[in-house]
Amino acid sequence: MTTETASSYRIQGATGEWEVVIGLEVHAQITSNAKLFSGASTAFGAEPNTQVSLVDAAMPGMLPVLNKECIRQAVRTGLALGAEINRVSRFDRKNYFYADLPQGYQISQLYHPLVGEGSIPIEPDAKDGPGEAKLVGVERIHVEQDAGKLMHDQHPTRSYVDLNRSGVALMEIVSRPDMRSPAEAGAYLRKLRSILRYVGSCDGNMEQGSMRADVNVSVRRPGEPFGTRTETKNVNSVRFVMAAIEQEANRQVDVLEAGGRVVQETRLYDPDRGEGRSMRSKEDAHDYRYFPDPDLLPLELSEAFIAECEASLPELPDDKRARYEGPLGLPAYNAAVITADVETARWFEALLDATGKPETMAKAASNWLISDLFGALNRLGKGIGESPVSPAQGAELLNLVADGTLSGTLAKQVFEIMLETGDDPSKIVEERGLKQTSDTGAIEAIIAQVMEANADKVAEYRGGKDKLFGFFVGQTMKAMGGKANPAVVNELLKKALG
Ligand code: ADP
Ligand code: MG
Repeated sequence: MTTETASSYRIQGATGEWEVVIGLEVHAQITSNAKLFSGASTAFGAEPNTQVSLVDAAMPGMLPVLNKECIRQAVRTGLALGAEINRVSRFDRKNYFYADLPQGYQISQLYHPLVGEGSIPIEPDAKDGPGEAKLVGVERIHVEQDAGKLMHDQHPTRSYVDLNRSGVALMEIVSRPDMRSPAEAGAYLRKLRSILRYVGSCDGNMEQGSMRADVNVSVRRPGEPFGTRTETKNVNSVRFVMAAIEQEANRQVDVLEAGGRVVQETRLYDPDRGEGRSMRSKEDAHDYRYFPDPDLLPLELSEAFIAECEASLPELPDDKRARYEGPLGLPAYNAAVITADVETARWFEALLDATGKPETMAKAASNWLISDLFGALNRLGKGIGESPVSPAQGAELLNLVADGTLSGTLAKQVFEIMLETGDDPSKIVEERGLKQTSDTGAIEAIIAQVMEANADKVAEYRGGKDKLFGFFVGQTMKAMGGKANPAVVNELLKKALG
């Protein structure tokens, strides 16, 4: 059972409360056309073994050549996390045998990683459970090669290896054990993914495996030293990471309360069953016989290269959010939702620019994007990148509302038609006569009809039943096909009834 308070997450055992300690190692595939040490393509979804150079297949005598673009992306990522960039780093061989690793070792960076200490500010979402807004430490980012992929057939029993992924560049982003609840781990992953996508150094696509997390979990009595941790490998969604933590922490509490001890081990999480299982006892660094790769020189970065990386960074999510809330004057919620995803933020900025008056339209545009556009995209099962309505069309619609041509209700009707036809709002308004009218003569005529047809209600209203005002508004709007300007209707009705 878990006790939930505003900010602290505790597991309630038979013998008292336990605190959970979490550290995440995130493998993020670096966005680059070519692999870390070869020119082979990294495109997703190709036929097996069609993107394998002689280096990736570990043919004898082949030599790795470092891809500068991968280093540039990892340095940009480090800078975005406010991290130290190490002017000298080095590649090491991590030796182990596995059928998807033809070299017999992975080229990684153990002793001298490219990026040192940095941090990520997180704000857990209350709906994920208790957690605190805080700065989570990042211990390091190192660059390494990915392995290939094994595929197993049951009938007949056969295994196949696909080396397309072999040699693809990864960043391993290692957090400090600073998180204390599943909600904090979820917030960390979402924030990290958001930053990676802003920077453009990783697409953050967890379903395709371009971002995956190793989840380190231990439990302790609050205030005591850290307990022994286990590491659950390759968890591939934020939701599964949170579920795996919950499950593993509870398992450890059960073990400890039964008088046992937690064994340091590598585990797997099975999302279908919602349970973890032991895979192997955990290796230590010395088991891999790491040593500097003799084929690669130490990597030295010039100040000019680092400055160029820095200059190429876009406005990052927290800065953008502060600007949206401050100078742009958006409600905090809108600013948070729009800036969380870089594609949404770009769409919003294109929308604002297209209105021609970004200062005055910002709030209305943000509301429309979050409620109307998101609502429609949800229904259609589409992402913002596949929106059937362009930012320019959205801006035109917002301008038609701002200049009084469309009421809110009419704007919703026009938007529905835009979604179906892809037409511009001005064309729809023209062709279907959906303009809002402020023609007082026409509205007064309708009001007179409504009052005549409802003489009893008019009498009741005049007798003091104020609530009936809404009824008259509704009847008038209905008789005008929703096209009357509501402000004008209100004003004229007050006059006629008063
Ligand atoms: P290794 O080299 O064995 O993988 P590290 O010291 O590099 O171990 O730590 C790996 C990850 O484990 C880091 O993300 C770190 O924050 C996390 N971690 C370390 N100790 C603990 C602990 N006691 N409980 C939970 N996580 C931990
Ligand atoms: Mg590790």
